[in-house]
Amino acid sequence: MKRVTSFFTHIFGFERLSKYERDYLHDANIRSCSYMGFIVVLIELWMLIRQTYSKIIPKYQAGGDLYELFIKYTSKYWLFMLIGLGLMLFCLFYKRNRRLSKGQFAALLAMGVACMAYTAMLRLETFTQPGEAITPVMATIMNVMLVSVYVFLFVIGAAIVTYALFKYLKNKNIVVLEHLAIIAFTLICLAFGIFVSYSDFWGGKEIICFLTMVLYVGCLLIYRPYVTIMILGVSFLGFYFILLTYQGGLSFQQTEVVISGVTHKIISGDAVNYVTFFISLATICFAIYHGRLTEARKSKALEKSAKEDDRTGLYNYSYFSELAKERIQNHAEDAGKYVFLFIDVNNFKSFNDQRGFEAGDRFLLAIGEFVSEVFPDALCGRQADDHFVLLTGTEGLAEKLNALNDLVHDYDDEILLGINCGACHPNSASEDPRISIDRARYAAQLIKSRFQTIYCEYDKTMSEAYHKRLYIINNIDNAVKNGWIVPYYQPVVWSDTEEMCGCEVLARWMDPVYGQLFPNEFIPVLEEYRLIHKLDRAIYESAFRDLRAAMDAGRPVMPVSLNFSRLDFELMDAVTELDGLAAKYRISKELIHVEVTESALMDNFSRLNEALDRIKALGYSLWLDDFGSGYSSLNVLKDYQFDVVKIDMRFLSNLENSEKARTLIDCIIQMADRINMLTLTEGVETRAQAEFLKNIGCNRLQGYLFGKPMPRDALYERIDRGELIVSDRNVF
Ligand code: C2E
Ligand code: CA
Ligand code: CA
Repeated sequence: MKRVTSFFTHIFGFERLSKYERDYLHDANIRSCSYMGFIVVLIELWMLIRQTYSKIIPKYQAGGDLYELFIKYTSKYWLFMLIGLGLMLFCLFYKRNRRLSKGQFAALLAMGVACMAYTAMLRLETFTQPGEAITPVMATIMNVMLVSVYVFLFVIGAAIVTYALFKYLKNKNIVVLEHLAIIAFTLICLAFGIFVSYSDFWGGKEIICFLTMVLYVGCLLIYRPYVTIMILGVSFLGFYFILLTYQGGLSFQQTEVVISGVTHKIISGDAVNYVTFFISLATICFAIYHGRLTEARKSKALEKSAKEDDRTGLYNYSYFSELAKERIQNHAEDAGKYVFLFIDVNNFKSFNDQRGFEAGDRFLLAIGEFVSEVFPDALCGRQADDHFVLLTGTEGLAEKLNALNDLVHDYDDEILLGINCGACHPNSASEDPRISIDRARYAAQLIKSRFQTIYCEYDKTMSEAYHKRLYIINNIDNAVKNGWIVPYYQPVVWSDTEEMCGCEVLARWMDPVYGQLFPNEFIPVLEEYRLIHKLDRAIYESAFRDLRAAMDAGRPVMPVSLNFSRLDFELMDAVTELDGLAAKYRISKELIHVEVTESALMDNFSRLNEALDRIKALGYSLWLDDFGSGYSSLNVLKDYQFDVVKIDMRFLSNLENSEKARTLIDCIIQMADRINMLTLTEGVETRAQAEFLKNIGCNRLQGYLFGKPMPRDALYERIDRGELIVSDRNVF
């Protein structure tokens, strides 16, 4: 039973439609109305021309009064034309959530006022008197129609004016008035059909006009099926009864026709045709309604995926930017009150590592909800990862951000969570919002490591550093192509003989504008924008090329260490790239040390693990960089098989004064030795440090004491001058 009722509810359109579906059908109806408006205008124009030629001019020449003739013969056509024009403009300008422009406002206002004024002014002289040619019924119908049409048209005029005012001043959606437009078209069409077809019928012709008009109403305008049935039912029945007033109306009767002396019996099927037409039209209406509804659902699904961020249900970044631009342009006069926020979640990575990806996703969803809760009127989107973007007003911003920070902070009891928020006011209404967002992001970046500060606004003083950063992002391809990325070499020595056992390759960016750039300026930026692999690929290739050239020139062979960023393994197939270069330059694998930082290994990312296994399996040497620099985890030593551990230079900073620091470094070296890993200490600057490290058994040393990073030729010169001696010890 329930199924049957739900089937009928569905078929007849009683079901609840979502706002999207309702809007979709509504928008389509408004579109149909604009076509009809156009047709009404054309027809009325034609009628005006016809009346002028056939009635006004002859009667005026016969001595009639021009004004009276004009009123008598053209009033209703003018009126209909104004209304048609008004409604057509209304439909053409109709745009959900958009304010009317000045011109549109003026046109609608003029049209609406003209309609009202004209209807009010009309003397109802056009009333029809029953006469020889017009039956009393016909006259009554026409007069009733006339009065209601006048009243109705006045209402439409008033509605157009109201709509224009509301839309222009406040950008309020006045759905009632939009429905009124659709109803107006329906009634105008039906009245027109009935009026013309009755005259036709009366003159012994077909009722095509009525049929066409109901076809228009039923098929172009989409009401819910039960409403359509009602509209069609009333129109068909009503018109049927109207027709009855003339010669028995539509009939189902036999007539006898005599053709060439033979009598034929002809059965007239008018009534049957009439009913059949009604039935087929009703069926088509059902079909169209359901077809359009399916269309709406499909388009919703599509639209959703194009606009929505699937993790949080907020807008995705590109749609956010589009809407932000629109919003600022629509309120260009107070664009200064708007601010873009870029919100970054502190420690999201740790949360993901410790609680797992699913919990991470739930956390993102929750942040999305917090954001919409704290900023109910803002435009909210997610840019990527744990980065949220907002366009909002400046009022109460600090309190809101604190509230948001508290919500995020309280989400987990153990992990220290919070937000960093960068802000930037748009420069002008026409500027691409992504520029402001990026500046806000830059500002957020600046306070990332300051835990007490959650808000930072972009200002002019930041712009130089900001532009440098932007320059780096925009020019990495140029830099690679033009050879601005240059490998520098820093010697690594054996601690006992202090002979060179290799060197580390460190990137420098020789820029035509900024001069020499250091890794701390470009590496973090390139990592943030996921472009680091471009630089690394270039550096590896240069290093390999230099190595090959040195070998071809008969220089002593010396291994090189290459730095790998964690992102290299995500953004390219780093191992294949490396292996390809080794093959291309015919470099034996023991000559290559792959340095991976400790922090890269923290989140146990499976592609990275596979890559490291492959590196080892292929025969490259795997080095752990920056050991002890971050959140050290001894698990890293347990889980991966490193050949060499590079001890971070921070341990050396107060080696001379701190017994503790000395003990610690001693222990690390002993521990590495026990698990068969060799050690290298970075940042050796003094002789005392070098002596100490040698004595506690650290195998290799690297630091300014033995040489700063230098260009290839400088390195060769120092070797040639004997300042650096390449070790011939055969352990790579
Ligand atoms: P890192 O791998 O830990 O490199 C060692 C850094 O310490 C280098 O800085 C080096 O110049 C510096 N250094 C060496 N000895 C001493 C010393 O005795 N005292 C002091 N104070 N510093 C010393 P650099 O070249 O500025 O590189 C910084 C970081 O940038 C590197 O740290 C590495 O993580 C990254 N990096 C450099 N080149 C590349 C590259 O080609 N690719 C990737 N992915 N990262 C790179
Ligand atoms: Ca390194
Ligand atoms: Ca290092």
